[in-house]
Amino acid sequence: MTGEDWRPRPIYLPDAHLPNSADPAWTCRQCRTLWPCPTAEPYLTRGQCSSCGSPTYWDTKLPRHWHLGPRCYTPADALRAEAEELHQHHQRNPRYPPSHYYPDKPRRRRRQRPPYDHTPSRPGDIEPGTTLWVSPGGLHPGWGDIHHLAILTTLGRPKCEVWVWLDSTVHLVRPEHLLPDISPIRNAARAAGVTTFRQQPGRQSPLLPEWQWITWTVDRHLQHREQHAPPPPTIEAVQEPLFAS
Ligand SMILES: [Zn+2]
Ligand SMILES: [Zn+2]
Repeated sequence: MTGEDWRPRPIYLPDAHLPNSADPAWTCRQCRTLWPCPTAEPYLTRGQCSSCGSPTYWDTKLPRHWHLGPRCYTPADALRAEAEELHQHHQRNPRYPPSHYYPDKPRRRRRQRPPYDHTPSRPGDIEPGTTLWVSPGGLHPGWGDIHHLAILTTLGRPKCEVWVWLDSTVHLVRPEHLLPDISPIRNAARAAGVTTFRQQPGRQSPLLPEWQWITWTVDRHLQHREQHAPPPPTIEAVQEPLFAS
């Protein structure tokens, strides 16, 4: 029995038994025999290079491996393989691209800032000149998946026309993507003496029922209008008596 045999085996491949790759045929640094030596063998799994067929050894405990024989790839190959691997990873895990990767903006009309201004004061009170936010999905994807500040220029269905502050472009947007800006509404209400919009003090507290409309989309305001439209005037049949006789 040699002195080494009875000692517990180290958890990891001892560094002394790593290969010496200076010679064409790798040798163990300590045993001086062909690598892997009997000490190193239990820590390794044998494999085969998929591109050149050379034997490969994978460490069973640590993320490292060895490729015997001449190198079968250049640094450029390694970089390309890594890029391909990353590409495959991103294909499997798609994410919203960062803002500078959005598609090109299509051509849109540009116009000067609309001169009029309107601040909603009650449910359904939406007119051209209202400042609003266009939510993501309202504009072409070239404008990104962010909210854009805009001014309503034409109210309508199925689409409203808005003027976008960012670049003075004019867009047709579905009213469910338009959200009136709360700040001017709040400022006007405060100026008129309103002290609170909420059921209790604090931002998270629910809005008072009479102020819930400030979070409505333009679509909701239009629905409110349609539901509360004055009934069409009934036409009196003034000719009726003529037929009666
Ligand atoms: Zn050895
Ligand atoms: Zn190879």
